[in-house]
Amino acid sequence: MINDANAIYVLGILLLFGLIGLIMAIRSTLTRRGGWGLNFDKATYVCPTCKEQLPVIRKPSSIKQLLWGGWTCKNCGAEVSKWGELINEETTT
Ligand SMILES: [Zn+2]
Repeated sequence: MINDANAIYVLGILLLFGLIGLIMAIRSTLTRRGGWGLNFDKATYVCPTCKEQLPVIRKPSSIKQLLWGGWTCKNCGAEVSKWGELINEETTT
């Protein structure tokens, strides 16, 4: 049975999770780490290995890129994180 007290409890939990998500996103954006943030700095949209300009509007080549962002360089095939860092597949798996 759901009464008012339970509804407020559930709402509180949802708000808490929303707040945690928001804090994670802001922190990730500011520290440029992790998958939660957004990278608005177009100066970092460059391939770290061949210096090729990466497109602002990107077509994800994998589910991971769709979820967390990042590029696969058209020029050299390097995997680049959304923070403009080279992703080494061997260390991330
Ligand atoms: Zn490249």
